[in-house]
Amino acid sequence: MVYDVAVVGSGFSAIAETVNLLRLLPPSASIAVVGDDPGFGRGTAYRTELHVHRLNVPAARMSIFADQPDDFVVWLRDQKRGVPPDGFASRDDFGRYLRDRLALLLRNRDTRPTLHFIKAKATACDQCTVGRVAFQLDNGTNLEAANVVLCLGVGNAELPVDPAGVKGILRERIVSNPWRLGWLSHVEPSQTVCILGSGLTMVDQVLALRAHGHRGRIHVLSRRGLASHPHLTRKVVPVVPELPSSREISMILAALRRQVRTGADWRGVMDGLRPLTQGLWQELSHAQKSRFLRHALAWWNIHRHRLAPDVFKRLEALLGDGTVTVRKGFLQTIEEDERQLAFAFRPRGGVGGIRMRADWIINCTGMERAGIAHSPLLRQMLEDGLISADKLGLGICVSRNAQVLDRDGSTQPGLFAVGALTAGQFWEITAVPDIRVQARNVAVAISEYLPGVADI
Ligand SMILES: Cc1cc2nc3c(=O)[nH]c(=O)nc-3n(C[C@H](O)[C@H](O)[C@H](O)COP(=O)(O)OP(=O)(O)OC[C@H]3O[C@@H](n4cnc5c(N)ncnc54)[C@H](O)[C@@H]3O)c2cc1C
Repeated sequence: MVYDVAVVGSGFSAIAETVNLLRLLPPSASIAVVGDDPGFGRGTAYRTELHVHRLNVPAARMSIFADQPDDFVVWLRDQKRGVPPDGFASRDDFGRYLRDRLALLLRNRDTRPTLHFIKAKATACDQCTVGRVAFQLDNGTNLEAANVVLCLGVGNAELPVDPAGVKGILRERIVSNPWRLGWLSHVEPSQTVCILGSGLTMVDQVLALRAHGHRGRIHVLSRRGLASHPHLTRKVVPVVPELPSSREISMILAALRRQVRTGADWRGVMDGLRPLTQGLWQELSHAQKSRFLRHALAWWNIHRHRLAPDVFKRLEALLGDGTVTVRKGFLQTIEEDERQLAFAFRPRGGVGGIRMRADWIINCTGMERAGIAHSPLLRQMLEDGLISADKLGLGICVSRNAQVLDRDGSTQPGLFAVGALTAGQFWEITAVPDIRVQARNVAVAISEYLPGVADI
């Protein structure tokens, strides 16, 4: 069977794409969803069941439907969760909401396309021609579709150093991918934990450790020691930024700072910039984008990706009582030291190395920027010239309508990508408010190729 559309992936991008296809395609259409994660739609972000893991975007902006922005708020109200529109729901609840909304759409069999779930990973792409994209799956079968949407997310960043000399039980205490939360139940309450990275992933793991009864010391090591700012408890009104005509990154950032100095709340300025960010990014030259990534990214991240206010308060309390300490430095080595792990780092602005010990080392350095290395499928497609890597190392090259570009820069017929893999083209494409728009646009583009759509 050749499906009209195959959606490859099982995180938020995949479920957002699927619900849009279900709404837009005619009942005669067929859709396959290929993914092997339990809990379709949860992906890396929403698979946690810990209530302490909260969304970092207010509920009012987390609807899966771009054209029904209140939908998540309505769901929360129906479920009597007591989270106001500007509050921060648990990520577990968001996962339930996604599942409920898909289930609702699936109920109406006669008026919607056929949907098949295939529990597998796509491992290779054999063919990519007009009207036919063919994949091998790791369950030994093949899949063919006229259109394919890659919703693969990006992997976890590698450990900054190779702990090759660490063996046995101690090696198991170096957690390269913290999103698989199984490691937490093995940490003893009084053990010392070192977390590499000080961003949102670090905060998640600190809260998860506490929820599991951990009461020992937590050392946080990161290159700049910067942690995310909180959202305010009151509503912030977005301020449309006064941007210069120049597309030089330093001029743009200076204009934003000026606006904050004249009294605008910086959160309002960041929020006001949000709808403009994709267009602004596309107008920057390659050199300006590189400058931004080299010099401003760490500051951008802590202002743009903010913490729920009470999550921030908990972190502050743990910093205040010395449970969590943050050090700025560059990790040099991880070695065995009797029954513990020893890690050495060069302090920022200093020389030499400081050596410390911990029972666990958790890699929270974030998501892999390029998003290709973790995926055998993407590596194969890159080798065969079916995709090309973004020059800034931000995923794969796509056109402005998210069609995948091949080695020669030509659009691949019927092959799209959704989510953070497309950050080279869109930059601001990692969170729900942006992905849901992209998913809808891709569904509209696909629906225009398919017969029967004009009639619905
Ligand atoms: C901890 C965390 C919290 C976040 N919180 C928020 C928030 O509060 N609000 C917000 O707007 N955004 C948040 N984000 C941003 C988040 O990245 C997006 O909201 C969204 O979850 C990204 O989903 P995705 O499907 O693109 O990627 P992922 O969630 O990474 O999913 C990719 C999926 O593809 C599957 N896959 C990969 N390769 C294959 C293959 N070859 N074949 C089949 N399947 C494959 C993987 O198994 C995985 O299930 C958060 C991110 C993280 C990591």
